[in-house]
Amino acid sequence: MVIVEVSRKNQNEKEYIISLIFEVFINSSYKIIYNNNYDDIIKFTKNKSSIEFKQDFFLADFNINNLTIPSVKFVESFLFVKKDIPLLYGSEEIYFHNDSEARCSIDVFGAIFFFATRWEESISPERDIHGRFSGKNSLAYKNDYIHRQVLNEYFHFIFNLMNHLNFEVNLIDRDFNVKLSHDIDDIKYFKFSKNLPKKFLRNDNIGSPFKKICLFFKSLFNYKYDPYNTFSQLMNYSEDLNSKSMFFFMNGGLSNIYDNRYKFKSAKKIITKISKNGHHIGVHPSYHSSENKTQLKSEINSFNNFFNVDSSRQHYLKIVFPDTLQNLESLGIKYDYTMGYHDLPGFRLGTADTIVAYNYILRKKSKINLVPLIIMDTTIFRYYDYKNIENSIDSIVHECKFHNTNLNILIHNNYIEYKSFNLFLDKISSIE
Ligand SMILES: [Zn+2]
Repeated sequence: MVIVEVSRKNQNEKEYIISLIFEVFINSSYKIIYNNNYDDIIKFTKNKSSIEFKQDFFLADFNINNLTIPSVKFVESFLFVKKDIPLLYGSEEIYFHNDSEARCSIDVFGAIFFFATRWEESISPERDIHGRFSGKNSLAYKNDYIHRQVLNEYFHFIFNLMNHLNFEVNLIDRDFNVKLSHDIDDIKYFKFSKNLPKKFLRNDNIGSPFKKICLFFKSLFNYKYDPYNTFSQLMNYSEDLNSKSMFFFMNGGLSNIYDNRYKFKSAKKIITKISKNGHHIGVHPSYHSSENKTQLKSEINSFNNFFNVDSSRQHYLKIVFPDTLQNLESLGIKYDYTMGYHDLPGFRLGTADTIVAYNYILRKKSKINLVPLIIMDTTIFRYYDYKNIENSIDSIVHECKFHNTNLNILIHNNYIEYKSFNLFLDKISSIE
């Protein structure tokens, strides 16, 4: 058993990080002992081995209103799993007293707290037209580590340092797996509206105007002919990857531009079929729900009247930290899948592993687990040219294999009309 000695200053925050280290990455029992002489260190001890982690970030009382975004420099050590690591707090020295005792000035606790809690998003005033924090405004993008699982790199550093000092601990078993999820923003390509003739003539991936007119008439009698009815195809893709899909359905909303493209009651048959096939169902809360608890509550509660859900992803990936998570938690949601950037593939949380969230306003561990979203189809279609699609996906796959993490990919059922859709799906299905 590893004994972890900490002071009670910022106790909840420190306990949260310790639980991540020993519940996500390092397979060892541990016990926390409080020692109020230890404001400036956190000490790990096992038998005769010990490490003192010097504290920098948590020296002051944690208060979100007093924080500023740190500067980053990259430092090197033989104990890192990659050549270097982004240093946010502390300094780079690791001093070895002997074979079993060391003092580490790299503030791993401050860095892990920064990556895992996303408090950066409360500090930064930058938002896009939908009110979202963009990947391009993140410290990770500005310092070129958004394609790295830096949280795992920090965990791995702690693990390597412990075993270098004969702690004899193991890693928690993990495997690389591709997991698909699908936001169902719309269920019908053909709808009676003044835009229908334009759709017939539009040059998209569905086919020629003649083909579309044929599909349109067939779809009047049988929904299977509607181009957005890709549900069986999506389930097959997951099954080919020895996995099950997660489908997020919408249930109303306040906007007639961004929400309400279908009525929930017309999706019930599809939900039942997907569930019968052993795939999973979640709720896709509407455009304004991230800031409107009453709206969120009405969508989730009436969804639960038909089908009980404990998983959720925000429409447009609109999330307000930590309020939206707090609201979701109070409505019984246990897994949130929103943690990806709309404008970039990569690691918003610094990891592809599922981790429990921390509410840094209430200063307590949340009951919500964050399931990171790493690649979204629309990000690839909109922001990358044809050739870069392959390269961007390859580098992410390589990173997830390197750390043996899941790779969560979002494929919308209705983006089949995009010219790049087939290429994207071919690329995903060729991942081994
Ligand atoms: Zn959506």
